[in-house]
Amino acid sequence: MTAYAFPPAPQAFVPIVGRDEVFPVRRILCVGQNYAAHRDEMGGDSRIPPFFFSKPADALVMAGTDPAYPSHTTNLHFEIELVVALKAGGSDISADRALDLVFGYAVGVDLTRRDLQNLAKERSQPWESSKGFDQSAPISAILPWDGPAPDGRIALSVNGEVKQDSTVAHMIWSVPEIIAEASKMWRLEAGDLIFTGTPAGVGPVVRGDRVAGEVKGVGDIGFTVV
Ligand code: MN
Repeated sequence: MTAYAFPPAPQAFVPIVGRDEVFPVRRILCVGQNYAAHRDEMGGDSRIPPFFFSKPADALVMAGTDPAYPSHTTNLHFEIELVVALKAGGSDISADRALDLVFGYAVGVDLTRRDLQNLAKERSQPWESSKGFDQSAPISAILPWDGPAPDGRIALSVNGEVKQDSTVAHMIWSVPEIIAEASKMWRLEAGDLIFTGTPAGVGPVVRGDRVAGEVKGVGDIGFTVV
C-alpha cells in the first residue's frame, strides 16, 4: 500500500445517464479545427491531419455548477463539442475497430481564453493557459452508446440567441478517425474523454450570460458564466 504524504486529489468523474455509477476520468484530449467552417473562421489550413491539445481532468464542470469567468482574459469564448468517452484503450487502433472502445457520448463546451490563444499562436507558445484552465470544460452526463457515432444537430445559444448550429456529420475527422489518430500518439485508456471540435460561430461570453447547448440524441448542457 502506497503511503501518500498528503491525501491525493479526488478522482475526476462524470455522471452517467440512467446509472448510479459514474464515469472515472483519466485524460481529456481535444481536437482542434474539426469543422471546415470553424477552421476557416480561425484561419486554419485545410490539409493538415487532426491535431490535439489537452485539458486536465479537474477542469471538468458538471451540470448544476456554473463556471467562473476566468482571470487573465477579456475574450472568453464558447465552443460546443461532442465528447467521446472511452471504456477501453490501446495503441494504433484502426478506424474500423475504434468504435469498440466507446463507452458513450456527452455534450461539452471547450471554454477558451481566445485572447491568450491568439497570443500563443502569434508567439508560437503552448495553448495551456488558453485551453487548460480551471473550469474550462463544462460537460453533460455521459449517455452510454453502441453503434454508429452520433451525427445529429450540434448547437449552442447565448441568452436564447443561436450562435452555433451545425451537425456532427460535418466533422472533418469522424469519431473513429479521431480515435485512430489519437491512438497513434498516445496509448488510450478507459476513462479518457475526447472533445471532438466545434462548428463555426464561436464567440465571447461575459459574466451573467446563459449558455445552452445540445447534441441531438446525446444530451444538452446549460450554465451561467459567473
Ligand atoms: Mn475546441
